[in-house]
This record gives sequence, structure tokens and C-alpha cells, in this order.
Amino acid sequence: MTLICEEYFGGCPKCGHLTLVNHGPEHWGVCDIHQLRWNIGSNLFSNWRAQTPEQKSEAHNRLTAMTEVEPLSEGEPIPGAEDAALVVESLFERIGGAA
Ligand SMILES: [Zn+2]
Repeated sequence: MTLICEEYFGGCPKCGHLTLVNHGPEHWGVCDIHQLRWNIGSNLFSNWRAQTPEQKSEAHNRLTAMTEVEPLSEGEPIPGAEDAALVVESLFERIGGAA
């Protein structure tokens, strides 16, 4: 089984996850688990205009703590997902075997 990135705006290069964060008109994709960010573009969604100065400063702090990376593209396999799936499968086998 191969897990692929299903995010149109790109996914975390480690796990394929995406959370959208606005910083003013700039849109960023982020993964909070891996502390990674990638730029999506600017002024694509109008909701950034509703951002309060507090939210903007919070987004700024969140983004500056993260490392900028190249995201996975939609449809690209998620590295490590296959290994993780095998580990989970093996755990389930062991749980099943113990029952
Ligand atoms: Zn991630």
C-alpha cells in the first residue's frame, strides 16, 4: 500500500499533512508536528482580510519557529508512510496473536 499526498496546496514532506495559516495576504501550508512550512501564494483566499493584528502576530510567531521546505505535491508518495503502515500492521498482528 502506498500512501500519497492528497493536498492540492502541497503536504508536509514527512507526513503529507497540511494546515493553512494566513500571515497577512500570504498563505502558508504548515505541519505543526514536524514544524515545517511552505509558501502557497498570496491573496488566494479572501479570509486573510478578517485576520486581527493579534492573529497576525500569532501566525508570525508560529511561522518563524518553523523551517521552510519544499512540500510534497498532490499525488506524490509520502516518504516513510509504507514503513509506518508495516509497523502498524505488525502491531495489530501481535495484538491479534495475544488475544
Ligand atoms: Zn508533518
